[in-house]
Amino acid sequence: MGIVTLTIDNREVKAEEGMTVLEAARGAGIEIPTLCWHEKLKPYTVCRICVVDVDARGWTSLDTACSRPVKEGLVVRTRSAKIDRIRKTILELLLAHAPDSPKLREYASEYGADRDRFEKDPSFCIDCGLCVRYCAEVKKKNAVGFVDRGIRREICFVPEVALRECNGCKECFPLCPTSYLQAAFVLVQALTAPAQPEKP
Ligand code: SF4
Repeated sequence: MGIVTLTIDNREVKAEEGMTVLEAARGAGIEIPTLCWHEKLKPYTVCRICVVDVDARGWTSLDTACSRPVKEGLVVRTRSAKIDRIRKTILELLLAHAPDSPKLREYASEYGADRDRFEKDPSFCIDCGLCVRYCAEVKKKNAVGFVDRGIRREICFVPEVALRECNGCKECFPLCPTSYLQAAFVLVQALTAPAQPEKP
């Protein structure tokens, strides 16, 4: 693997070919927010909060840092008024679904996002897909998947698989940005538990 030199936030950064802008930035101590990214998973680019400004040979565009490969001479800006405005709006939309998510609230204070800007429609799942993809790509179990479509889409455990696999695993629980996943699993356990015989 060759080494390329790029500029991130006016700093010269060296990165291995094949790395993404996100990995190069984090390797240099420059933080870019993410919600759907995980080092063991393929980029998903669904939350778009890692959007950055990329200048490649004079062509400037917005792109997701988690999927953009590094290249010699690339110039990246991770913060600007425009980028912050985009991140703020993304957070405000997500906070309508998961207003108490610790991760969203942490980012909201960083980007000045208003938790009450949009009407609340709590689903507690923000469709980041981390649990679904982690279970499929890393654990190869498919104990959790998506149900429904569009704005109604959310995760759902597959009871017959989850009841067999999850208690001994629990690896995806801490990945959930809304901290809802463990509660969802406990609910599945409760709903599928055999009925207790009534006391005489
Ligand atoms: S806890 Fe269950 S759903 Fe999560 S990765 Fe493990 S097996 Fe998959």
